[in-house]
Amino acid sequence: MSLIEDLVIASRICVEAGVIDAYGHASARSDTDPNRYFMSRQVAPELITEEDIVEYDLDSRPVHPNAPLGYNERYIHGEIYKARPDVMAIVHNHSHSVVPFSCTDCTLRPIFHMAAFIGLGIPNWDIRESQEGSDMLVRNSTLGASLAAKLGAHPAALMRGHGSVVVGEKIQIAVGRTVYLDHNAKMQYQAMMMTGGRDNAVVYMDDSEVAANVVWQEYVRSWDLWKKKWLPRLAAERAARG
Ligand SMILES: [Zn+2]
Repeated sequence: MSLIEDLVIASRICVEAGVIDAYGHASARSDTDPNRYFMSRQVAPELITEEDIVEYDLDSRPVHPNAPLGYNERYIHGEIYKARPDVMAIVHNHSHSVVPFSCTDCTLRPIFHMAAFIGLGIPNWDIRESQEGSDMLVRNSTLGASLAAKLGAHPAALMRGHGSVVVGEKIQIAVGRTVYLDHNAKMQYQAMMMTGGRDNAVVYMDDSEVAANVVWQEYVRSWDLWKKKWLPRLAAERAARG
């Protein structure tokens, strides 16, 4: 199975999970050159095929001069790959469940084991730290580097009033974290509503539970399931395209 195929599947999974719609994107660092990454051309993620994948350098310039138009926010990916040699895949998304945690004083916390990584800390990046009066999009390397600096060594960062960026040492980890970050946000909101926002009324995972979970959690079973669903669908699409 190729990295490109995995990247197409990653996009479709995120769409099916409702964390990406017409916007948002996934990328993967090249498995042969750490100074390059792969990402789709500018198209809705649900429509991405292997033919849409473009190779970029870490300044987010296409490697091939005749490459099709890329996403405006590809600098998120290039600057994080520069800053984080351990990161092999990134998902940027506008999950509706997560955004409210980026623009209120409610902090995302790990409410269930599949999202234990939240306990490692999810910083919240405000684009105004780098640029006042922006259109909220990460349109250049300066903004991308500011976001990457805020992300630091964490598994994800919120983007105030916009969405989040989620990273992983494997593509399945970035995708799994993206999906379960969304689930955690929904469950945390429900728990907060059930308890009327009373202090300490919701029990979150503690630091020792987080540490015990994140050492092994790679979303292997989720990824295997998702791929089993998507491989035949993509094969059918390919056959239909001729
Ligand atoms: Zn965005």
